[in-house]
Amino acid sequence: MLSDVSHPLDVLPDDEPLLTKAKGFQKAGDIGWNNPENFLTPSEAKRRRGSGKNYGFALGDGTEEWNLVAFDVETKGVLPDEAQALIDEHALLVWDSVHSGRNRLVKVTDDAYKILDSLTTAYNHLSDRADDDIELQTSGHCIGPGCEVSHKHCKDTKADCPGSGRNTYELVGAKPFAPVVTKDVAERILTGLEIDREKNESPQTDDSVEKVTEIPEYDDTDVAAVEAHLQTLQANSPFAFNCLSDRLNGGTGEKGGLRLDCGLIDRSATDFVTVSDLYGVMLVLGNEDKQRARELAYAYYTYRCEGNEYMKSSEGRPRKWLSIGAKYRKNILQ
Ligand SMILES: [Zn+2]
Repeated sequence: MLSDVSHPLDVLPDDEPLLTKAKGFQKAGDIGWNNPENFLTPSEAKRRRGSGKNYGFALGDGTEEWNLVAFDVETKGVLPDEAQALIDEHALLVWDSVHSGRNRLVKVTDDAYKILDSLTTAYNHLSDRADDDIELQTSGHCIGPGCEVSHKHCKDTKADCPGSGRNTYELVGAKPFAPVVTKDVAERILTGLEIDREKNESPQTDDSVEKVTEIPEYDDTDVAAVEAHLQTLQANSPFAFNCLSDRLNGGTGEKGGLRLDCGLIDRSATDFVTVSDLYGVMLVLGNEDKQRARELAYAYYTYRCEGNEYMKSSEGRPRKWLSIGAKYRKNILQ
């Protein structure tokens, strides 16, 4: 892949704040990273990196014409050929993480974004090997080429982490004029990845299942079933698991768009994505049928909300799922 830019961030327009602040020597965002006030232009991100701190791409953000999305493949070389060719053709940047992952940044049109963003988090296995996850990141942030990570901050779930020392995210290639991913291309990529859109779409588009109008009854069997499926998610996809766990505990899991302009967590949106993700896990990893997957998602979310009744924020507001009543919960999944 040819590189015809002097700096990888030159692939983005220099007047657009499409980057954000990550911590020094870490992947994590800095405090307030998801507040657009803290977003950086490419020049600002270069200066930040020059001072030793990391920057990240603000995924899901963009211009009138496109939004940024990243593909993160945990082990280099496991993407199916057709999907890899398509993603590489459209990649603005390709760079390697400090473990065995390879990241690709693409621009996607609005309608392509809707398709990619509609998938639940639990689609991402190309085989039954635990290390071949592909993560399609449509929100949140991911750190870019040139960023440095100290392995002491890594989670111990990374099999190929040395546990100490530092490494740099290395640029593999840059293509500033890479074409934007259209709806047609997005669909072809998903087909190439053998991702079944119907099976993985958020449940509100599914009319075949009975709606829930009461707080679901649940018992120990339901809770144990869900927790077993969540363990599968944790083993196969630690990032998705951590994100979901934080939301089950009343946080946002750093998922984008879940905070209101005033900084409070958007409780409705969090309920919606969390129940949707639980449903996806039950369906895809748990092999439950749609009706049972939905019942388990409701039941387990209720169980977790009852166990932890307040949102993780300084205001400690009650979780909306428990306080609003049946109509609200019904609308969430319709
Ligand atoms: Zn590491």
